[in-house]
Amino acid sequence: MAETLQPRDERDVCEAVARAAASGAKLEIVGGGTRQGIGHPGRQTQRLSMSALSRVIDYDPAELVLTVEPGALLADIEILLANSNQMLAFEPWEFAPGRSTIGGVVGAGFAGSRRILSGGVRDHLLGFSAVNGRGEAFKAGGRVVKNVTGYDLPKLMAGSWGQLAVLTQMTLKVLPRPSETRTLVLRGLAASAAGDAMGRAMRAPADVAAASYVPAQAGANSITAIRLEGFGPSIEARASLLAGLLRDIGPVDTMDAHQAEQHWRGVRSGSLLDAANTLPALWRICVPPAQGAQTLTSIEKLGGVGLLDWAGGLVWARLPREAASNVRKLAVTAGGHAMLVDAPEDIRRAIPALHPEPPAVASLSRRVRAAFDPMAIFDPLRFEAPQS
Ligand SMILES: Cc1cc2nc3c(=O)[nH]c(=O)nc-3n(C[C@H](O)[C@H](O)[C@H](O)COP(=O)(O)OP(=O)(O)OC[C@H]3O[C@@H](n4cnc5c(N)ncnc54)[C@H](O)[C@@H]3O)c2cc1C
Repeated sequence: MAETLQPRDERDVCEAVARAAASGAKLEIVGGGTRQGIGHPGRQTQRLSMSALSRVIDYDPAELVLTVEPGALLADIEILLANSNQMLAFEPWEFAPGRSTIGGVVGAGFAGSRRILSGGVRDHLLGFSAVNGRGEAFKAGGRVVKNVTGYDLPKLMAGSWGQLAVLTQMTLKVLPRPSETRTLVLRGLAASAAGDAMGRAMRAPADVAAASYVPAQAGANSITAIRLEGFGPSIEARASLLAGLLRDIGPVDTMDAHQAEQHWRGVRSGSLLDAANTLPALWRICVPPAQGAQTLTSIEKLGGVGLLDWAGGLVWARLPREAASNVRKLAVTAGGHAMLVDAPEDIRRAIPALHPEPPAVASLSRRVRAAFDPMAIFDPLRFEAPQS
């Protein structure tokens, strides 16, 4: 079992990183550790657990700004914000209840269905403190939306998968919770008609908060769901606008509130694909929204199952073992990229989790990593392609 380091504050983090740099040890930065299964298995690393840095430093509901340490639990933050009727608008998702940390959420950089309206994690990270691979503490960004000068490093840190620096504190923009939510539903559409319906809804002046498509499964009709958020009369007006716009595609109903909650949770986590969990590999494929329906059809031809979020821009897919090498081709053909999110070790050993970057981007990424972590101590083999 790899050794786990437990820093209590930023100074401990600096010391732990400096020691690792001096000894040549590799460090895997860990929040709740729920996503440790992503990436190449069997790396030799020490775990740097951030769980003891878990304070809420400052929360100012009037300014819509929250400053926290990375080990703070997502569940606690959501309760804190809900008490002031606010939320993290990028719709984070607790992979394992009571374990996911805010540092892990920012490190992973995934966002939920509301991304098409509110943006992703990186759009909400205003500033941070961190420790680089030399064991030096540094700060970037700020506490307000408009004070970025120089490089906008928060954009780099969100979704950096613990490969650049150890976050020790972060400031996030928060937003008021919508007063009401309504999910419109069209049942029984084929993927291409669903793509058309979601595209029309997104182009309409309807401020759609989320749009998803789940193909027919186990005797249930396919579901095309469109979520509206805001004040009652505004939702009413936008719902009737959309019902009119989509009438020729199919009748538009309102989904029962409980069912809608289950639906969006299942889309966000990919768990609506669980019925197909005999298919071993879970992929997260980002494509231009107009390509979503075609991508889904291609996945089905490979023997897989999938669903669409982000109005077609995000495809969650489960695929058989032998289809793995075709998924990336399929994503590139559609103009996107594919990440292997979950799979048995033998597949993870053969296929890098992150989509390979084009040569020019890969060279830029290497330079950025070398600037933050010159001795390559932050788990450098996690996303490396296997040596042939
Ligand atoms: C199927 C699926 C669906 C998901 N859907 C959503 C979604 O809808 N919305 C959403 O927001 N998320 C989503 N996620 C992401 C998931 O919620 C987060 O990855 C998870 O909650 C992170 O919590 P953790 O503390 O266990 O992270 P960990 O597994 O501990 O860490 C995740 C990554 O962040 C890095 N990291 C952790 N702490 C730090 C730090 N202090 N400094 C630098 N790097 C750090 C780690 O090195 C690692 O690379 C999804 C994940 C999966 C697998």
